[in-house]
Amino acid sequence: MRTKSRITASAIASAALVGATVIAGVPAAQAIPVNSHCGTETAGPRSSFVSHEQLTKELERIESTSKGLVEVDVAGYSNQGREIYQARVGTGDTVVLVQSQIHGNENHGTEALLSLLKEFGGNSAEAAAIRDNVTIVAIPRLNVDGGERDTRQNHMTWDDVVADFPQLAGVQPAWNYRSATPGFDVNRDFNPDLDYVPAPEDFPGNSARTGWYITPEAQTLRDVYAGLEDEFGVVDYFVDLHNQWPCYSQVGTDNMSTLSISGRFIADPTQFGDWPNFDYDASRRANVAVYDALQERGDSAFGHLTLYPQDTNLPGTALGSFALRGSATVLFETSSNTQSDGQKRNGFLTKQVETGLKGLITAVADGSVESLDPEAYEEIPERIFQPAD
Ligand SMILES: [Zn+2]
Repeated sequence: MRTKSRITASAIASAALVGATVIAGVPAAQAIPVNSHCGTETAGPRSSFVSHEQLTKELERIESTSKGLVEVDVAGYSNQGREIYQARVGTGDTVVLVQSQIHGNENHGTEALLSLLKEFGGNSAEAAAIRDNVTIVAIPRLNVDGGERDTRQNHMTWDDVVADFPQLAGVQPAWNYRSATPGFDVNRDFNPDLDYVPAPEDFPGNSARTGWYITPEAQTLRDVYAGLEDEFGVVDYFVDLHNQWPCYSQVGTDNMSTLSISGRFIADPTQFGDWPNFDYDASRRANVAVYDALQERGDSAFGHLTLYPQDTNLPGTALGSFALRGSATVLFETSSNTQSDGQKRNGFLTKQVETGLKGLITAVADGSVESLDPEAYEEIPERIFQPAD
């Protein structure tokens, strides 16, 4: 008996050890070994993500099946004249503004928003509690032209800009313009002053300076933000859903990082004027809520998120500008854009964004986000760059 039970115990222990080795890594279905084609495999078919036409139909369907609990409107138009949608759900006093795909080749956030809008417009008690306590305004795929063309930039020439702002004739194009596309990195076109008018002396600018609202896409987001400020005073939360290089690992482990998050985009708020509502601790608490929600998924790749580099100063991003105005800010950088090797993992990566974002919104709805320790943010593991083959 004794011997047998010792053997059994030992056998279980060694089985558990083997099991732990397997489980501690990324589950087999999501495994990307370090130095194994990271970022160099052929991208999967673009068709696994919704087209503009499918996005339009899906939003119409969500509005209709939710019986209007999810309200869909055209917030503005892209440079090529496509609709930029906003979907609003909930009637709470706290507002969460969340957008996806300001970079056109970063799709997972859009798929996650469609799924969450469906859920929040549903008839579960959980959805009703969220609607009572939070107003969620989602802009799925801000950069609709880049989405159709699968480019990071929007689709716009410098001549288009000069036609809109004749005072810029003869000025060197903005630093975030890529003439080969042609288009702008829209996420460098923001300014904490929502009334800023483009001035020739502010061009070409650089990444340490504020942007200009020269693109219709940034103008659309600014107008939605300004409207929410009029309505709520401060836009309490702003979440921006992106994708990053697929090959980062998590410091101190063998895990590949499936997501990086951040609440830090401004090194010194006083450098950009007087912004009394800037609240870095609120941003840190919001990020901790996302982190906790993904850790609660247990020992799985859902927990393998990391902290985006903290030595950044990006006042021309939507996150940087809106943080100065007083929004608690969260950046999601999900592994792999459409040119990377994320194809097999699309379902997992989308679910990961849903889980983290829903965790934040739930913590806002029940008030628990307020009691989170902002210092816990500093404990999120850093990410380490891994080269592709
Ligand atoms: Zn991005």
